[in-house]
Amino acid sequence: MEPKSRFLKVKCNDCENEQVIFGCASTPVTCLVCNRTLSEPTGGKAFVKTQIIEVLE
Ligand SMILES: [Zn+2]
Repeated sequence: MEPKSRFLKVKCNDCENEQVIFGCASTPVTCLVCNRTLSEPTGGKAFVKTQIIEVLE
């Protein structure tokens, strides 16, 4: 089981929007509400730049 294939529930640091993102997203993920960058790709694993609430299996 690849740990990097998880989904993460995150909360935007700016507007508190909760959003589910892919743990190994290969493209930058932005907040759907305020457009803040929530995660950036770093060699196959997403670098999450906001608060992680929950890791979903
Ligand atoms: Zn936001």
